[in-house]
Amino acid sequence: MLPFIRSDLAQFTAYKPHPSSNTAEPVATQFDRLDTNESPDDLPPELKEKLAWTYQQVIETNRYPDGGHEQLKDAIAEYVNESAHLSPSLFTAANISVGNGSDELIRSLLIATCLRGEGSILVANPTFSMYGILAQTLGIEVVTIGRNATNFEIDLKAAQTAISQTQNPPIRVVFVVHPNSPTANPLTAAELAWLRSLPEHILVVIDEAYFEFSQNTLVGELAQRSNWIILRTFSKAFRLAALRVGYCIAHPEAIAILEKVRLPYNLPSFSLAAALVALQNRQLLLSSIVQILSERDKLTAILSQHPALQVTESAANFLYLRLKPNNSYAQEAALQSLHQQLRTSGTLVRLLNGGLRITIGTPEENTRTLERLQAAMANFTS
Ligand SMILES: *Cc1c(COP(=O)(O)O)cnc(C)c1O
Repeated sequence: MLPFIRSDLAQFTAYKPHPSSNTAEPVATQFDRLDTNESPDDLPPELKEKLAWTYQQVIETNRYPDGGHEQLKDAIAEYVNESAHLSPSLFTAANISVGNGSDELIRSLLIATCLRGEGSILVANPTFSMYGILAQTLGIEVVTIGRNATNFEIDLKAAQTAISQTQNPPIRVVFVVHPNSPTANPLTAAELAWLRSLPEHILVVIDEAYFEFSQNTLVGELAQRSNWIILRTFSKAFRLAALRVGYCIAHPEAIAILEKVRLPYNLPSFSLAAALVALQNRQLLLSSIVQILSERDKLTAILSQHPALQVTESAANFLYLRLKPNNSYAQEAALQSLHQQLRTSGTLVRLLNGGLRITIGTPEENTRTLERLQAAMANFTS
């Protein structure tokens, strides 16, 4: 360990976003990459051409990007209002902050709330891992609770106990995903009631990374809840994972704080231009969602027929697959073996504690996934 490094960092390992690609062997593009919940479709060629033109004719690479993001924030506010059927003037640029992916916004929120030993965070596992990872790299304590094994509802009793008993520092932020990753379930009525009951000094971050798939949003409630912030991203339905654009919707006062802690030129000019083009062409880009959802439902129906598999209803563009309890094999070892067999046959999925998370791909990819999964399952159940 380098002698000038913070002592608690020694135990961390760097985040590997594609765990399946960590081996010496490169991830070949012939793999079906169903492990990171991206859209299966690239931007259409006409939009790529438009962006290429913007890059050649408009962007001056010697100049810093627009550090205020005003044009993009206006467009985002318009989209937020429209997509939630709200008054077109409800949210404005003053309610929006833009980040280098929503990961940057998560880190900014942590910096703005918990640093200097002022707060801990609460997460219910399994959930998006970045909340905990980013908190730990900042020296922020992460309090974890569990979920109901059947419907994945947060253990609300444990959550309430954690809130009342965590001291020095107390819990200052609760992170939830709506719908959750990896379990794909939206927030339940009981979870919502609990979130609404939290006092004003606890920030509630509702991550709606999969909103375009679920069409279920809580932005309509933001006006009444000064301690809620909603996170969104261009990395999923908008097909821009490569360009790193996320945003949050919040009260102007909270936005002003986020603007204080962010890096001045956090988004490259090209990313800003791409997000704007994506929004201007949202009807075209989001039109592929219908097919993704129908593929998802088809896959769910077929996998539910399998005697050894347990698949729960998904409100997003991925499935969470578990093995039914069985005495003839150890669950975790069986999952690992399934994960490996899928990989060997050409499909990358995400192995998480207790389940496999499978992104919905193109119809061809999904057909291959089914075939490969059924072949791999034959090894357990024969
Ligand atoms: C994919 C995902 C994001 C997106 O992160 P970016 O940094 O914007 O790419 C955020 N939250 C959750 C829960 C996700 O699954």
